[in-house]
Amino acid sequence: MSKMFCFQCEQTAGGKACTNAGVCGKQPDVANKQDSLTCALIGLARAAEGKKRDDSTDEIMMQGLFATVTNVNFDPQRIDEFAKLAESEKKKYGYDENLVPENLWMGDQDIVSLRSTLLLGIRGMAAYAWHAWVLGKKDAEVTEWFYKGMKSLAEEHTVEEWLDILMEFGNINLKCMALLDEANTSAFGHPVPVKVSTNVEKGPFIVVSGHDLHDLKQLLEQTEGLGINIYTHGEMLPAHAYPELKKHPHLKGNFGTAWQNQQKEFDNIPAPILFTTNCLMPPKPSYADRVFTTAMVGFPGLRHIADENGKKDFSEIIKKAQELGGWTEDKHFTGINGGSQLTTGFARNTVLSAADKVIDAVKTGAIRHFFLVGGCDGAKPGRNYYTEFVQKAPRDTVILTLACGKYRFNDLDIGEIGGLPRIMDMGQCNDAYSAIQVAIALSNAFNCSVNDLPLTLVLSWYEQKAVCILLTLLALGIKNIYIGPSLPAFISPNVLNVLVQKFDIKPITTPENDLAQILS
Ligand code: SF4
Repeated sequence: MSKMFCFQCEQTAGGKACTNAGVCGKQPDVANKQDSLTCALIGLARAAEGKKRDDSTDEIMMQGLFATVTNVNFDPQRIDEFAKLAESEKKKYGYDENLVPENLWMGDQDIVSLRSTLLLGIRGMAAYAWHAWVLGKKDAEVTEWFYKGMKSLAEEHTVEEWLDILMEFGNINLKCMALLDEANTSAFGHPVPVKVSTNVEKGPFIVVSGHDLHDLKQLLEQTEGLGINIYTHGEMLPAHAYPELKKHPHLKGNFGTAWQNQQKEFDNIPAPILFTTNCLMPPKPSYADRVFTTAMVGFPGLRHIADENGKKDFSEIIKKAQELGGWTEDKHFTGINGGSQLTTGFARNTVLSAADKVIDAVKTGAIRHFFLVGGCDGAKPGRNYYTEFVQKAPRDTVILTLACGKYRFNDLDIGEIGGLPRIMDMGQCNDAYSAIQVAIALSNAFNCSVNDLPLTLVLSWYEQKAVCILLTLLALGIKNIYIGPSLPAFISPNVLNVLVQKFDIKPITTPENDLAQILS
């Protein structure tokens, strides 16, 4: 008898499911409590769908879903608290039944596959909706869909109906990504290209990981003038490009390479680390005393900074940074390929302001093809495919990238075409919205469909935000997406066949083969 069941991320045990303990470090009690929380949220959705709701109900729904995303919350007590909130909120709406947790993952293989795909996509969308929510941006249709989608998980549907629901969800997630884009750009300005150092200056510093720009902003304000430098980590790198964040001179650079190297790179680091979202790995004793969590992130024994009326008090982290003092001399670090400078900030506004140049370069043949090489990075071997793909892409091709998959190659200098860098980082995973807007603008300029553009998506996936983005791309009718490094365990062979037939989804092979096939 298995102790747990989880197959939601790319590193799942044996490519099938984690049943004894999570490869990510999630323990069976946490996995089982997350299943109970999910069932309580399904019950809440059945109770509250279509009803007039308080903000508190919507917050419980989004926070509960976000807390189950991979590498977010490993703390059984916190998961229990989210579940209790969902249970008591549900009663407000006069309904008190839950799905049995075991039934989440049982039944006809294809139905389980489609139902799980929806649940995991909704978990991903909850993270995006929450980031917009804390910046004061809401979309009633997006919020309502959490209830519609979660409620549907307790319903019987045919394969065709599930596929329709998934496509409807993909379109809603596009709205959610647009909402977050609006939230970020209205709060922090449109990103502008910026070069970010991988070095760390001597003296006290704080490392900020995750995706929450609002948390970073509050930390920057609270450390102003204290002689403490702030370094981004992982998916926080694109923060350097936002005018309202980059204006803080103590936002100095980016620390570390890909998130999965954190246990090695944080070893004995003389600074505290703040995790605002995933990806948290179980901390080693050599640095566990200096890891802080906030928002939905949690791990037993780590200090958690709570939110009080939209504000966070980071004084404990600041004190820790002063105590630890940082390094006594400047430290030189590099990316995984030896480069010490990362460029980011090529979001839709920047790329579209150079649209004439881009269109001319395509028309004259200076740019033969665009690749969007991005997605989330992961710990399993085989992801050097993405490094090699970028290295081997011909010199008349441009690499657009986003999300943490870019750490595989974002320190490479592969030159420019007509003054444009050949690698353009469009931002975090949610900035897939930017990439979609650029693709649509190019298709309008060339008077063709996105599928007829000289553009190929070569995606890496790891966790549930990649699932919601993929569903959006499919809902938009985008075909010929290359995906790897392995296919999701929750996609059954029959569902995969449907995806291949309808959308020409292609598992990656080798960089040489795939480049040859794409450019032939
Ligand atoms: Fe396993 Fe991934 Fe689930 Fe963690 S999140 S338990 S690694 S499938």
